[in-house]
Amino acid sequence: MTGCEFCSHLPKVLQNDLAYAVYDIKPVSQGHTLIIPFRHVQRIFDVTPLEYKAMYDLMLEMEVLIQRDLSPDGYNIWANCGKVAGQQVMHAHLHLIPRYKGKAIHIMEHMQGNVV
Ligand SMILES: [Zn+2]
Repeated sequence: MTGCEFCSHLPKVLQNDLAYAVYDIKPVSQGHTLIIPFRHVQRIFDVTPLEYKAMYDLMLEMEVLIQRDLSPDGYNIWANCGKVAGQQVMHAHLHLIPRYKGKAIHIMEHMQGNVV
């Protein structure tokens, strides 16, 4: 889709036939990754089962890379659906957020400007 940040050529960390992974440009923790279907759909609910599988496969691959390089103590996996929920780019995506003992994350700052 013209003008969509996630439909443009972002530097990808990993990709497969239906989806790709990039590091978030405003990470809430080190290694914060976005998993994005290539096809432009606005809502995570509009992602097909095959696209979900592709996204899931990338999430597993990213977890291996992140664990190897950063050794986090846990993860959050989430999707923001709709502006009221903090979705900033209107192209469906999942957040994979490594968590580290003793380090809080500031979700509201990440969504700043999009809370309505
Ligand atoms: Zn898009």
